[in-house]
Amino acid sequence: MKFVNSFKDKMKSYNGEHKLKYYIDTMGCQMNENDSLKYAGILESMGFEKGEEDNSNLYLFNTCCVRENAENTLFGRLGMLKKRKMNNEEVYIAIVGCMTQQEHILEKIKTSYRFVDVVLGTSCMSLFPEKLYNAIVNSKKKIEYIDVSNALEEEVPIKYEDKYKASVSIIYGCNNFCTYCIVPYVRGRERSRRPEDIVKDVKKLAQDGYKEIMLLGQNVNSYGNDFEEKYNFPMLLEELEKIDGIEIIRFMSPHPKDFKDDLIEVIKKSKKIARQIHLPLQSGNTEVLKRMNRKYTKEQFVELALKLKQISNISLSTDIIVGFPNETEEQFLDTLDVVKTVEFDQIYMFIYSKRNGTVAARMEDEVTYEEKVDRLERLKKLYEETLPALNAKMIGNTYKVLVEGKSKNNAELYTGRSSQNKVVIFEADDSYIGKVVDVKIDSEHLWYLKGTIVK
Ligand code: SF4
Repeated sequence: MKFVNSFKDKMKSYNGEHKLKYYIDTMGCQMNENDSLKYAGILESMGFEKGEEDNSNLYLFNTCCVRENAENTLFGRLGMLKKRKMNNEEVYIAIVGCMTQQEHILEKIKTSYRFVDVVLGTSCMSLFPEKLYNAIVNSKKKIEYIDVSNALEEEVPIKYEDKYKASVSIIYGCNNFCTYCIVPYVRGRERSRRPEDIVKDVKKLAQDGYKEIMLLGQNVNSYGNDFEEKYNFPMLLEELEKIDGIEIIRFMSPHPKDFKDDLIEVIKKSKKIARQIHLPLQSGNTEVLKRMNRKYTKEQFVELALKLKQISNISLSTDIIVGFPNETEEQFLDTLDVVKTVEFDQIYMFIYSKRNGTVAARMEDEVTYEEKVDRLERLKKLYEETLPALNAKMIGNTYKVLVEGKSKNNAELYTGRSSQNKVVIFEADDSYIGKVVDVKIDSEHLWYLKGTIVK
């Protein structure tokens, strides 16, 4: 589906006189952040101006149902906006994203939050201008919910905030049904974007001066499985490697079960693919992994992680859930064992929390919250004990760093992320911003490294 919509222009001419401002509140993952950049692009193409939280007319909530407390956050914010609406201020509210795909949320909006103007499901961005126009100009404040969860939308305008780094969605949805995860229910089945559309987007980014791209998908390495012809993620990476101007290519997230040797070979050969791979472990125990429906064992994960670690200068990051329903102490110790063996450079760790509508939400769970917190603390401690030695191995070596700007904590210095996704600070000046430079690491400080530009 191409983004063509006459309501965009109608809304633009209305906005010419009214100068309405928008404010986007994004919850959740990088896919949602990327969607919000598209909504910002659409809104600006409709003549809206970016506003602040306290002075806007259109409030767009791009919701998530993975993060805990997101529902309370949304409904709390709607309550605040209701007061402004009741004071006759010109305020409109739109709710989009994953949360709107859940029936209990829709019901709640329809019954208790009838002042909301637009509600759209995932994958129907192209309908947004029409719905918004009708709500604002025609005062049709009827809540309409539309689900086009199999649609693929192309040529949506996108407004990047960053001038040098950009994210590009390559595949939407997920077929994996991990038992704790709501994503396949709210984002639908896997749909890969055509490679020519992705290449076109990345070439345009390169022309606009972007140096680093992040390829996004719930499961990037199943990219192309839905094509009739053979075309897969490693082939897409090889194609993107050829684009002049792009110097760093990252991707998020691959599934360990789909991480095959052809992908490892492409990473090894590449001069642009970042030396950082995110490999979500979730649990280090085979029985728990089976109950999570992850489709790999502890041993298979460790074998893959160690194979990846043979790639020179590579760093690994991961996600871990502690306290999955009825996870025993022995099973948790398996997770610690994998963490000790693999030595991750970054761990995003979470206490399991129930998502209504998932298989795991119906599982019995006798693990107390205190036990879960204790496990999280032990995992955190182990990680923080491992990190200095990993960082120390980088001292004396030189790494590619995209210079992002001045360091927030030390105004004298500049900052960027190395290819390994480590924060590095160093002396520089404004002329370096947006350039990829070689930085020699001088010292490590747990959460960042200090270095010197050598080229
Ligand atoms: S791979 Fe699993 S955790 Fe990731 S989005 Fe799909 S179902 Fe959720």
